[in-house]
Amino acid sequence: MANERARTGGSTDTTAIPHWYDPDSSVPTIVEGEDATVFDDSGTAYLDFQSQLYCVNAGHSNEAIVEAMTEQARRIPYVSSAKHNDTRSALAGRLGEIAPGSLSDVYFAISGSEANETAAQIARVVKDAPKVLTRWQSYHGGTAGAGSLTGDPDTRATLERHAATTGAGKFLPPLPECFDADSPEDLAEQAADHVEFVIRNEGADSVAAILMEPIAGTSGAYTAPPGYFERLREICDEYDVLLISDEVIAGFGRCGEWFGIDTEGVDPDMITFAKGVTSAYVPLAGVVVDEGIGETVRADSFDLGQTFAGHPVGCAAGLAAIEEYEGGLIDNVAEVGPHLESRLRDLEDEYDVVDTVRGRGLLWSVVFADSESGEPLFDPLGTEEGENPVAAVRSAAQEQGTLFGAGRPDVQVIVSPPLCVTEAEIDEA
Ligand code: PLP
Repeated sequence: MANERARTGGSTDTTAIPHWYDPDSSVPTIVEGEDATVFDDSGTAYLDFQSQLYCVNAGHSNEAIVEAMTEQARRIPYVSSAKHNDTRSALAGRLGEIAPGSLSDVYFAISGSEANETAAQIARVVKDAPKVLTRWQSYHGGTAGAGSLTGDPDTRATLERHAATTGAGKFLPPLPECFDADSPEDLAEQAADHVEFVIRNEGADSVAAILMEPIAGTSGAYTAPPGYFERLREICDEYDVLLISDEVIAGFGRCGEWFGIDTEGVDPDMITFAKGVTSAYVPLAGVVVDEGIGETVRADSFDLGQTFAGHPVGCAAGLAAIEEYEGGLIDNVAEVGPHLESRLRDLEDEYDVVDTVRGRGLLWSVVFADSESGEPLFDPLGTEEGENPVAAVRSAAQEQGTLFGAGRPDVQVIVSPPLCVTEAEIDEA
């Protein structure tokens, strides 16, 4: 493959690894998994505190999900996305039940990037307006359309080399680093006023939607200050702009409720989902909208279909995963989440290079400070450079048997174990 390099090592012959890994690094070749643990090709066990890419929410090798996929594959593995299928309809029904507020109509996609592109297209059709506003440093996908929505400088730099990223204005995240606020309430107000300013500046008639993660994912697991989302909801209503919650990471129990936005007590107009819907056992994604939006999309005869959207094997995995979440895994987040938080907060006191710890449920970020100056390395605009201890921390952790995630920008360690994790595993990690 043109974009993959071969790595030779361990007991395997030649394993192609994605181009974005340094071929000389010690990235393990994962061959098996069970619950919160994965095993490499030499039999070494690692606690998977990244849930791979924040997606294996039900843990590895969950029998119920594997069974459901197998049963579906035996019965009929694929049915055209333009035809009806019982498993697909059943999953759509379940998603409508668990989605926030009155959201009920599901448009399936394959990846989170496509789900966000679909949501943006729906918003543009419904509001007859071209722009979707997102946050700096956010990640909403890497394909051309979703990459335009993404605020992460690396992704944008890649896309902007050849094509302008259009129709996707940016606003600042509600972070203390971005505003001069003297309390969380003040921060919420200033950050929301700023969004209002950006809408007015862009021209409210030209803005179809705001797309945001309710709790940031790879950009740093940060939560909004209290009141921020309520105020955003009001602003969206006032300017007739849709509020879309990107639940690709925050959804399916990761933050302690079905969806991240549920933890903010606000009803969005659409959610997008991927990753955890099937616990990543097979690719599946989509958008859930309310009935009114669904009707407008149908009346427009807008064609959103993709061949593999709503693949029946994925839908079977989704139904089984949702049952696992409901059957105790979301409750487990409420039980072990506070323990994870308190163990991480200990690091803040213990180490000068730990600048701050932020997150919710089982999605946390440990943000590092420059080891010389003690200055925080997290810069929401991604413009500062400093001595970065993060790679060393992650590789030392790996050597001692725990895999953590890298944030974007890579100044933080993302801690995000499967929802079945135990307190003992948290202590060990
Ligand atoms: N949205 C968020 C919040 C994500 O974190 C990601 C990927 O990590 C995406 C969208 C894109 O999803 P995918 O990689 O499935 O295209």
